[in-house]
Amino acid sequence: MKNGRNLFRILLLLGMMLACNFPTGLRETPITAENESATPQLTTEPITTPTPSLPASQPPIGVFTLAVLVDLNSEPVRREQAQVVVGEASQIFYRLTKFTLEMVDFREVSGAVKMDDILQKYLSDPAAVRSDGIIIFSYGDDETAKLYGGYAFAYPGPGGFKSRFVSSYANPNSIYVSVIHFGHRYAACGYGGSETPVSSVSIDGECRGQPGIACTEKYGYQMCSLAVNDLAASTPTYFTSSSFVHEIMHPFGKLGIKDHYWTAECTEIMKSGLSKRPYNDVFFDSAESEQYVNMCPYVFDNFVNSYRP
Ligand SMILES: [Zn+2]
Repeated sequence: MKNGRNLFRILLLLGMMLACNFPTGLRETPITAENESATPQLTTEPITTPTPSLPASQPPIGVFTLAVLVDLNSEPVRREQAQVVVGEASQIFYRLTKFTLEMVDFREVSGAVKMDDILQKYLSDPAAVRSDGIIIFSYGDDETAKLYGGYAFAYPGPGGFKSRFVSSYANPNSIYVSVIHFGHRYAACGYGGSETPVSSVSIDGECRGQPGIACTEKYGYQMCSLAVNDLAASTPTYFTSSSFVHEIMHPFGKLGIKDHYWTAECTEIMKSGLSKRPYNDVFFDSAESEQYVNMCPYVFDNFVNSYRP
């Protein structure tokens, strides 16, 4: 990759809450892209909204720490907003892994344009707080996060850094980075790519590729009427919070976007008994998919087993 540094990068684009449909064209490193708008989704079960996670009833196994960087070239995110999202994501994270998330640093960054520059600048700062992961609230390189919601990659830590969570699929000095579009509109309807609504029904691949679905107002924007009861729409920030968890998990799976819930590969792995987590291998269970933040359940086991405190 660029700069001749040994930059390994697994770039995994977020297609949270939706089945995945990644283009097969890859760049020099495994890059996976998921297009949320182009994917039909089979829903054969009524979508239920489970009760929100309760506070931890047993002590967490450990804490996955996060530095949060806000790219002011994209959109501002206040510390309190970041704290809310990390707290909400932590509940999801605990339910799935028995680990919690904690924000250990918060910085607003300006000037740097590329994610690589933002990370280099931060990691070379002696005052930077060492963390297991870094969240960058940004539109991302090439506005990729703005388009898809988010993406993730493993990034080499500074000299001497050793991961406390050692993925078999990333270098042992990796910091797990997620680039997240904070203001991403879950199940946006009637925008056709514009900032403001241009239609009262879905267009251009919205509403899981179903045109003509009625749009409805929720959280100050037009949402697909079919999506308003989704878990992802259960709070104004749930989609962003669950995106955290989804993205943090990607480097702990071996298959990139095929590590999403209910891909053929996922079903094969789950049928093999590798993971003891419940899994419906008969039909696409959208409620179960949401519970697993759209990841194949075995990836959470990999994450838990990666812990080297
Ligand atoms: Zn993904």
